[in-house]
Amino acid sequence: MLRHSQPMKSKILLVEDEAPIREMLGYTLMKEGYAFREATDVAQARSLIADDKPDLLLLDWMLPGMNGVDYARRIRTSPDTKDIPIIMLTARGEEADRVRGLDTGADDYITKPFSGKELLARIRAVLRRTRNTDVDGVISVNGLALETETFRVTVDEQIVEISPTEFRLLHFFITHPERVYSRGQLLDHVWGQNVYVEERTVDVHIRRLRKTLEPYNYSHLIQTVRSVGYRFSTKN
Ligand code: CA
Repeated sequence: MLRHSQPMKSKILLVEDEAPIREMLGYTLMKEGYAFREATDVAQARSLIADDKPDLLLLDWMLPGMNGVDYARRIRTSPDTKDIPIIMLTARGEEADRVRGLDTGADDYITKPFSGKELLARIRAVLRRTRNTDVDGVISVNGLALETETFRVTVDEQIVEISPTEFRLLHFFITHPERVYSRGQLLDHVWGQNVYVEERTVDVHIRRLRKTLEPYNYSHLIQTVRSVGYRFSTKN
């Protein structure tokens, strides 16, 4: 019924109008284990981000309509998107010089043509830098620590007994804080889109997760938002 525990895939959204580059990067990133989505312009990127916030955005400089640099600035000024790491893709020469000199809000940039290997290295570096994750893959919030490599949860170095499903649920919440998710969205993100699980299953696991966290005084972080869903929040 429930899927086996699997490592969390980082979600990468590519905004690029050139189909061959989209194909090449899609192949490279999926092979590497990333969850990959693509958009050909800013309008499409916006709707994909509204649907599911990516862990990293690969953004082409020259796009039809709004260009990548202006879009990067918009992303940085919107509260919903300002923390999305951005790597700009630029053409050789003038663009690269300009992107270097401009305050685009991008975390890094890479000049075309680039190798898959080079891009993957930059992606890993940006993800490492921008996450609350230290070098050993530990994400911690207010003393609650998730070890992403070993699937362990600890509080003050004490191991918290947690099931694989609760771990995945907690991992999703911790990496997507301060935002409300419906039961359906949680099912898609935590259980996967092709798995048939009833929505009330989410409630059952939320209850178990709270019970697991309760002795450590963290259950209040998993908040019910009436008639909408659930939210992970460290504010109140
Ligand atoms: Ca382009």
